[in-house]
Amino acid sequence: MGATTACIAGEEVYRQWQAGSIRGTSLGSRQTPFGPSGDLFLVEGEGQPFYLLPRYGVGMGKTAPSRINYRANIYALKDMGTRCILAWGSGGAITHSFAVGDIVILNDLIDQTRLRIGTFFENSPLGFLRQFPVFCPSMRRVVAEVLHDMKLVYHGTGTAAVTEGPRLETPAEVRWLTSIGAEVVTHTFVPEVFLARELQMCYIGVCYVVNYAETGSRQPPFIGGGLFAALDPNAGNNRLAGVLGSITQIASNVADALEKTDANCECARTLAHYTKEYNLGDDWRTWFDKVQ
Ligand SMILES: [Zn+2]
Repeated sequence: MGATTACIAGEEVYRQWQAGSIRGTSLGSRQTPFGPSGDLFLVEGEGQPFYLLPRYGVGMGKTAPSRINYRANIYALKDMGTRCILAWGSGGAITHSFAVGDIVILNDLIDQTRLRIGTFFENSPLGFLRQFPVFCPSMRRVVAEVLHDMKLVYHGTGTAAVTEGPRLETPAEVRWLTSIGAEVVTHTFVPEVFLARELQMCYIGVCYVVNYAETGSRQPPFIGGGLFAALDPNAGNNRLAGVLGSITQIASNVADALEKTDANCECARTLAHYTKEYNLGDDWRTWFDKVQ
């Protein structure tokens, strides 16, 4: 049995899988015209099944954000029947309104990446697409309801700056990001969100705050500290540990809720204008060759 919802997340879920706390089927990597995807899993609990795709791997096998094959990952999920993607990423708070352990349902982002291929359509006009709304409004509503029901602390909106990584930002960069409207800084969600739109999928980016971005300030909460100190299980930050431990349960609840929700978004029609204009046909797998 397949699934229509996918969860893309980080190292935490991979560790949970290895520890046996997530049940399901390991599907391995999937071949695509853009190369092999990352390892995929089908999580089968009590509710709707969903695909799980850990972005980076773990430990010394962890891939830098610039080197992820995002196109293969998004293509593979679409190819397996995914309609909706719930994407998780860690972030550093820039605004004083966010605290470590908070969850931020993103509604906008500032792309500061430089080395990633951000389109499936490098040699055709199909990637010339609006980016408003950036994230699927139907999924944003569903995720907010799930987080509310689970009594987790979340913010219903947030603008993320996405930097290239893997290094973190300098104090001057963080101060600049603040000045251009970013509220949290991360290395994730780009180009996944743009690629998902090109394949007419619903996508939502949800950030969990793991640290305070370094501004060089000596005043709390932006005073310097250990990198990802809040992720240390001995640090006593139970709220963040609770969020990380809940990621797959949240995904399961979101998959259940999506199954019962009529999507009133336009995500499944983002290329409708082009498919008509260029007579592309219904099989999205053929779009890549026809106009290139
Ligand atoms: Zn949508």
